Amino acid sequence: MSSAKVSTSGLVIKNRVVPVSGVEIVDFLDVPGLALAPEDGQKRRTRWVRMQILHTTKGIPHHRNRTPQRVRPGAGPRDGRDRALASYWQRDPRSSAAHGVIDVDGSVAQLADLVLDKTFHAGNRGVNEFSIGWEMFQEGDGSLWESTLDAQVALVIAVGRAFGIQFQIHHPYTGATVPRLVDGGADCVGVFGHRDVTSNRGHSDPGDMIFDRLMDAGFEAFDFSAGEDREVWKERQEQLGLVTDGIPGPQTVARLREAGYRGSIWVLGKQCNDDDGKPEDGPMETRVCEFPCPLRSLAQLLV
Ligand SMILES: [Zn+2]
Repeated sequence: MSSAKVSTSGLVIKNRVVPVSGVEIVDFLDVPGLALAPEDGQKRRTRWVRMQILHTTKGIPHHRNRTPQRVRPGAGPRDGRDRALASYWQRDPRSSAAHGVIDVDGSVAQLADLVLDKTFHAGNRGVNEFSIGWEMFQEGDGSLWESTLDAQVALVIAVGRAFGIQFQIHHPYTGATVPRLVDGGADCVGVFGHRDVTSNRGHSDPGDMIFDRLMDAGFEAFDFSAGEDREVWKERQEQLGLVTDGIPGPQTVARLREAGYRGSIWVLGKQCNDDDGKPEDGPMETRVCEFPCPLRSLAQLLV
């Protein structure tokens, strides 16, 4: 019997490949040339990955380049620009990288394990430690392809469900960073832009369009600079009978899972029960999962 690896498209999460519906993913296990150079990532120390940070490769428009950010309909050409970027990062002596790059055709190159590895994408030690970083490939004029945005939304949702990272963003963006993120983001759970962490890039790292799409998909908008997220979560934690620190961390995620919330995500609501007492859309746990608690919801991605 052959022991050859069967190639499956998916995200590598703690050495396991998890398919994401509708997204083609090539990873560093299949293509060793995609793996990060040592200066671009390290083993993660925390067991609590709490944020996803979104980037655009060029960060334009910004204050020096005011080309409007626009969307190109459909998908760009399949010419392997994500892999070219991975290879550039490998040769580049600076510490620069991300966990994944989304190409103009909507395909994804994954360069590091989402659980085991941290990557140097945010220029902030705390944020890098606590987060997963995604780069959307931009054309030279700053435009993004619809397929890139669609794939980014799908990845953010899939990873949010796998990790129990709540579906919430910082909004509105006023041109300023979020002080809590600048301080390392230890109490920040959700999906943020590089622009929320640093003023060294422009507002278009990653721009408004991806956040508009996430809100259209049902993500909640909180002003993290004003602490809106923590006020709302204190009320929710009280309802759930938890310590009310306002941070939806591992204990809150575990309680949401126990209470039947899909993917341990508040906005996804509870499983519906029909008359025979079984969930309408099948059992939540269909397989034994070896991951720590937030990752038990991985099974729900396998649809
Ligand atoms: Zn960036």
